[in-house]
Amino acid sequence: MEFNIALLKGDGIGVEIVDSAVRVLEKTAGKFGHTFNFTAYPIGGCAINETGMPLPQETIDGCLAADCVLLGAVGGPEWDSLPSERRPEKALLGIRSALGLYTNLRPARLYSALRSASPLKDEIIGDGFDILIVRELTGGIYFGERGYREGKMGREAYDTEVYSTTEIDRIGRAAFEAAMKRSKKLCSVDKANVLETSILWRTIMHKISEEYPEVEYTDMYIDNAAMQIVRDPHQFDVIVTSNMFGDILSDESAQLTGSIGLLPSASLGASKRGLYEPVHGSAPDIAGQNKADPIAEILSGAMMLRYSLGLAKEADAIENAVDTVLNAGWRTADIMGNTDGKPLSCTEMTDKIIEVL
Ligand code: NAD
Repeated sequence: MEFNIALLKGDGIGVEIVDSAVRVLEKTAGKFGHTFNFTAYPIGGCAINETGMPLPQETIDGCLAADCVLLGAVGGPEWDSLPSERRPEKALLGIRSALGLYTNLRPARLYSALRSASPLKDEIIGDGFDILIVRELTGGIYFGERGYREGKMGREAYDTEVYSTTEIDRIGRAAFEAAMKRSKKLCSVDKANVLETSILWRTIMHKISEEYPEVEYTDMYIDNAAMQIVRDPHQFDVIVTSNMFGDILSDESAQLTGSIGLLPSASLGASKRGLYEPVHGSAPDIAGQNKADPIAEILSGAMMLRYSLGLAKEADAIENAVDTVLNAGWRTADIMGNTDGKPLSCTEMTDKIIEVL
């Protein structure tokens, strides 16, 4: 099969890690008999330098015309003094909104080979864990009415959480579909003992669950979920939650895996065209030195194959290759821990993964 993939390398290590992911995807395409046509577009600081804007129209048009989008990272000290609406990071909100993306998928997987990087005790880690957080991305308290006003106790600030039936329904369906692609287990996290939006959230999730009898569905309050993730992460597979709760839970679970250089993410909308990117930023401190860990970007490429292009076997092959390389003890500097030996460079780690593929 043939697919068109837009590449947004961005700034800092974005360039190095996207190049690595492209090499891995090309190897995968060759092995499984596909053709991937890659076209690169500017975004972030490099786009500001080229065009004066962090998100040029050409980039938006190119992404809209592609089957899916693979992003590196944006930003760096060179652009830190710009006003907020002209900063590289502004392009991220812009491209997500231009592509109509409202679902954020953040897997947090602890590889058994990297257990020493986790702050959790050995008996809790067991043989590693693998959680997928499905976070609503464009609604809730981060987008509701806000401001300042005079209240009974003087000047006060307020933020409002609003969720429509449509917004909850579409994120719910995305989560049930994600659960169907994994181990058919879904936990919806809310605060339905206090918040009206959560009561509506829970009602709609229950309704959708009737359409997915194969999925083992549960509800949990956010305060309990935050505690249960550190107490026994194995009880979770897919978690679906609102924008703010998802923001907190995804960072908490990311921290439990110990390395930011390994975590991919996906943002999806109503169509199959999604945006795939690592959780980390542009790492200006190591940019241009061939030291970056390419695994988060490579795994973002694997998610892209699974969720946008319907190539599950191919995605498995990339994920298994990463597993094999980590189990064999190969490490980039960020995941060396107390291990002896010389860390692999970004290109050497990519070579190892390609070799196994
Ligand atoms: P960062 O994630 O870029 O870096 C934090 C630390 O993690 C650094 O020490 C870095 O070297 C290390 N690190 C990150 N990714 C790594 C990798 N793949 N391999 C090895 N080490 C890695 O976060 P920051 O330093 O807070 O931000 C740097 C810039 O990135 C800022 O301009 C910020 O606005 C931007 N940023 C962009 C995104 C994005 O594009 N989605 C996300 C977060 C931050």
